[in-house]
Amino acid sequence: MDGRARPEAQASILDEALARARAAAPRGVAVFDLDSTLLDNRPRQARILREYGARAGLPALAGARPEHWRSWDLADALRAAGLSPAEVARHLLPARRFWSARFFTSEYCREDVAVPGAPAFVRAVAEHGAQVAYVTSRPGRMEAGTLEVLGREGLPRPGGARVHLLMKPDGALGDDEWKSLAAARVAALGPVVAAFDNEPAHVNGYAMAWPGALCVHLDTDHSQRPVAVLPHVPSIADFRR
Ligand SMILES: [Mg+2]
Repeated sequence: MDGRARPEAQASILDEALARARAAAPRGVAVFDLDSTLLDNRPRQARILREYGARAGLPALAGARPEHWRSWDLADALRAAGLSPAEVARHLLPARRFWSARFFTSEYCREDVAVPGAPAFVRAVAEHGAQVAYVTSRPGRMEAGTLEVLGREGLPRPGGARVHLLMKPDGALGDDEWKSLAAARVAALGPVVAAFDNEPAHVNGYAMAWPGALCVHLDTDHSQRPVAVLPHVPSIADFRR
């Protein structure tokens, strides 16, 4: 949170990305993570809590809302939605199993909504002449729901030679390993002009892989690993200019 740009600085960071997109057209590539970067997953999270509450006989969870998710901490969300400490202790493990079976699915990811300003900004990047690469740790089995949400929210749809969707192959590949593998694939598309990711480890990896690119951290939420964003990587709250 400390390094987050003020609104006027956020606008100038985003304008700079557009200028770089134009300068490197038509081969330049802009890289965007999806979850907690372009898309807000909290409506998905809230639906899972409501359904768990119905299954487990916890009426308080019928009122679970996106704002009860302030981080990726399920216990914190259960508390915020109104469970007592004893209920949280009793339900944390079964709720986590219930969550795991649903969160990474096409059906539930349809609940996601765009981060403010994201659709207009990504469209502007494309209009300024850059290729768009969505690089996500979502597994390939989530492709149908992902495409549906991108289209519904007004984000450029993958397909053709200009908009690419790189999803994690199903299997045991870790997110960090996948992002560095994906970075190599993206670099083969053209010179990377800008990259956006909410996960400090991933945006730092991009900044090191592409020192000439404008790499930007989305200060939304992240996995809470103790990794600091590199000092020269700016943070923005969303994509409003
Ligand atoms: Mg993310």
